[in-house]
Parts: sequence; structure tokens; C-alpha cells
Amino acid sequence: MNLSPLIYFSRLYGANAELVTCGGGNTSMKENGLMYVKGSGTALKDAVTDTFVGMDMRRLLGILDEEYPADDAAREAKFVHDCALAKLPGEESKRPSVEALLHALFPQRFVLHLHPALVNGLTCSQNGESECRRLFGDSVVWVPACKPGYTLAKIMKDVFDASARPIKTVLLENHGVFFGADTVEDLAVHLNGMLNALNACVKEKPDVESDAEEPGYEDKIRRFSGKQYVNFNASPTALRFAASPEAAAPIMKPFNPDQIVYCGPRVKFANCENCLNSIDANVIVMRGKGIYALGDTQKAADNCMTLVKDAMKIVVYAEAFGGAKPMDQELVDFIVGWEVESYRKSVTK
Ligand SMILES: [Zn+2]
Repeated sequence: MNLSPLIYFSRLYGANAELVTCGGGNTSMKENGLMYVKGSGTALKDAVTDTFVGMDMRRLLGILDEEYPADDAAREAKFVHDCALAKLPGEESKRPSVEALLHALFPQRFVLHLHPALVNGLTCSQNGESECRRLFGDSVVWVPACKPGYTLAKIMKDVFDASARPIKTVLLENHGVFFGADTVEDLAVHLNGMLNALNACVKEKPDVESDAEEPGYEDKIRRFSGKQYVNFNASPTALRFAASPEAAAPIMKPFNPDQIVYCGPRVKFANCENCLNSIDANVIVMRGKGIYALGDTQKAADNCMTLVKDAMKIVVYAEAFGGAKPMDQELVDFIVGWEVESYRKSVTK
């Protein structure tokens, strides 16, 4: 299969920081019963032929006809194992995105899956579902938040089976968006149509960039967190959240799997310097000062800050849709223990 169109749009969207952060998002292409999908832990912006894992579509889709255990860990282990069995000969050393099966459900030749902050302003909002219907009518399918992996694939299959017409766009609550199209041009049309519609709703633009000097807590944070790398952000939007515990409330819980992967499940609000004597989070909102993102490596701290900025943007965008809505704690706990995401974090450090 000639993967050049796939490589082209993977790089194009992967290089756009408004659309892709860290290792997020994935893409695929199908032809004659075969599908090439992005490997887990690779970056779209650096896509080359080797980034993609060749899979047998029939074998992959066959997973949804099998019986799976009810127990989370057993089910997800079997799911990853069975997805791996659908790899084409010669692809043994690669690991396909855990979302590969979702790509296979789309009948279209190309699939683009992203987690952009602007889109997640809608998917992580209180009125997400009704606003999705108001803005996009029947042209976009809304899938409520659920456990990723096998459970999401099963729910998506039911959605596709029940639809009378071909589905081109799916919004996943607290997660992101899928676009399917038969041409690269149509992918752009779908994506831009959605971004334009959402931009028109936005009340206020987030301002999350900061070159402010760290106010002098860095050494203490290193000592009490055990994390050697500390990034600081005192952008206008960060300062708004840092004003009080009430103002910080919307960013105290994760919105999507990416944040759990790169920031961990907890955010600490520090009222004063003494509150830094015990730190059990990678993100610290320091009252009146700004927000810290920590990591064991510079890359980890940078990724953590990238996702903190993403969370701030989501909250600001979600104001247009009834305010932000974090993930359910049950879902957060599931993702924390999910081997698939530990793997993604381990290879993108
Ligand atoms: Zn995703």
C-alpha cells in the first residue's frame, strides 16, 4: 500500500500544536481489507512508513464477535493480545494504537483521530451532547464517556451498526474526535468545518503562554516532590485559576486520558509556602503565583506543562457550552491502572 497520503496528513495535522499535543492522536489508511494505523507511542508529526502498523481488518473486526471477560484487567489484556494477533506478518515488533479497532469500524479510506483543546472544550462540557446536536445535527455522532479499550470499541460498533447512514464524524465525550473520509481533502473539510463552528461559539480566547520568572519555590518543590524538573507558568489564564481554590476547581480533576498519562490523576492547590511541605501531585496550583508542572525528566515536565495548558484551554472553551465537566472518578481510576497508557507514557518520555 502506498502510504504517502497517510504520511502527508499525519505530519500536517501532527505539526499543528492546536490539534496535537505530545503523542496524542492517531491516523490510518485502508485498502483491500488491510489497514495501516499509527503505532502506539509514535508522534504524528514525525510520521514515516515505519510509524504505521499493518493490520488485517477482518481479523481485527472479528474481535468484536468474541466473548470477553468482565474483569477489567483480564479483558484489556486479552484485547491488547487479540489486537496484536491481527498484525500483518513482518509487523511483530510494532504495537498498534489501542484505538486501531475504532479506526477499522469506519468504512472510509482515511481516518483522523485527534484530541484538540478546542474540540474538547465541547466534549468536556456540561452541555456537550445537546450543543453537539445544536451545532452539527445528525452529521456528528456523540458517544458518551466510557472506559477506553475494548468497552469503547464495543460501544462504537453498536453505534455504527445502528446508524442508517455512513458515519463520518464521532465526538467522544471527555476524549476527542474521529473523522473518516475517502479523500485527504474531505478530511480537511470535515475538520475545518468543525473547528470553524466551535471557534464561532468561543466567548474568550485562553492566554496560556508564559515567560514569567519562577517566584522562588522551585528548590522546595524539588525537595518535597522528589521530581527534579520543574516548569512554571504565570500566564493570564494560569493566574486566573491560581486566584483561589474556587477559581482553581475546574482544573483540579482531569478531563481526558492524555492528562492522566502526562500529568497524573491529581492536582495540588497550595495556599501558601508551607503547603509545599508535602507534594503528591505533578501539578501544583500556587495561590496568587501561577502553576507548576513537575517531572522526573525535562521531557516529562514539559509534557506535563503542555497538558496543563491544554486543560486550561479546555476550561476556557467549555465556558461556551455550560462550563467544564471533568471525567468521572471511576473512569480516572480505570485509566490510572490501564496498562496501555502506562506503555504510552513509558515510550514517549
Ligand atoms: Zn484518543
